[in-house]
Amino acid sequence: VVPGTDPQIALAEEFGVRNYAPLPVVLSHGDGAWVTDVDGVRYLDALAGYSALNFGHRHPALTAAAHAQLDTLTLTARAFHNDRLPAFQRDLAALTGTEAVLPMNTGAEAVESAVKVARAWGYRVKGVRPGAARIVVAGGNFHGRTTTVVSFSDDPVARDDFGPFTPGFDRVPYGDADALAAALTDDTVAVLLEPVQGEAGVLVPPPGYLRAVRELTEQRGVLLVCDEIQSGLGRAGATLCTDLSGVRADLYTLGKALGGGIVPVSAVVGRRDVLGVLRPGEHGSTFGGNPLAAAVGSAVCALLATGEYQARARELGAHLDARLRALPGLTAVRGVGLWSGVDVDPRIGTGRDVCVALARRGVLAKETHGVTVRLSPPLVVTHDEVDVLVDTFGAVLADL
Ligand code: PLP
Repeated sequence: VVPGTDPQIALAEEFGVRNYAPLPVVLSHGDGAWVTDVDGVRYLDALAGYSALNFGHRHPALTAAAHAQLDTLTLTARAFHNDRLPAFQRDLAALTGTEAVLPMNTGAEAVESAVKVARAWGYRVKGVRPGAARIVVAGGNFHGRTTTVVSFSDDPVARDDFGPFTPGFDRVPYGDADALAAALTDDTVAVLLEPVQGEAGVLVPPPGYLRAVRELTEQRGVLLVCDEIQSGLGRAGATLCTDLSGVRADLYTLGKALGGGIVPVSAVVGRRDVLGVLRPGEHGSTFGGNPLAAAVGSAVCALLATGEYQARARELGAHLDARLRALPGLTAVRGVGLWSGVDVDPRIGTGRDVCVALARRGVLAKETHGVTVRLSPPLVVTHDEVDVLVDTFGAVLADL
């Protein structure tokens, strides 16, 4: 699209709100790992809706589940039972090896829910003094955009002018277990972490970090809450990213791919004795656990239960990583599974410059924090399509 000529972009500028700065492409169709714009130009989708599209665009099993549910029942609210939610809760518990499932809609809502559950557990089970509960979080975290969630962010763009903030959070450097140990007090109810930090640029913590955090939290009677909204459900090469280090959290937040790229579906899953602190009327959501979301969520669980997507992420991810490491013009390549963060040599350009140039050559990706480009194609991408992605990346780095 030539800037200034597209009617959709003109409408967005007239009636939209500038809380995003999208690349100048206007998409109208998606199929598997590919999207097509209004002029019929095809692009390889190397962002996959920030991992919400792990199964690609319009996966037939997922659209079939959604279509079928659209013809029966779509919403009841939680005032009544429906015939889809319990099966979804069973399926997600089985997939993740957990005992209880609290359904919500967006990722930020799942994180808010986990914060409330951890605090209530602290007062009602651990015996923390009323109003004193604290939660330890990591520097560079990204857990969403609500006021409480940005209260414990250290990103000025996410926080500035949105205060006053919610108290009760202590931030320690990510990847440093000693700093975390020093931050735990008798009032600490939970440690909340991303097992790999996605928005920070696919930051993988040092080996042994998650295990050390698990041991510390167990010793100190503190809950471990892992935010797997981006890292979970296949992306990292496992159902849960923590599976890779043999760690079990007490609670997990899940979202994004749980809705198959069709509807917003999120959840807090974990120990029954922890989630069980909630009493009727204390927490909820009109749309959380609706039958349409539950039907799609169950279909997502069925796809992941085969293990095929986790295996694809491991195999294709190893190929992507090896090929990226051979490209000149990058100062760092990080990653796990089919999920890479690469830092572009600033002498070549910014992450944004690279993403604009990639789009011109038919690959869609998203920059983060200046020099980083994050690559997370759908897990249905082929070996050859990974080569297209890396060849295009190499051509852009050579040309800029
Ligand atoms: N947590 C993590 C780790 C995320 O990556 C995101 C989104 O990028 C969120 C939470 C927030 O999810 P949502 O945008 O659905 O509120």
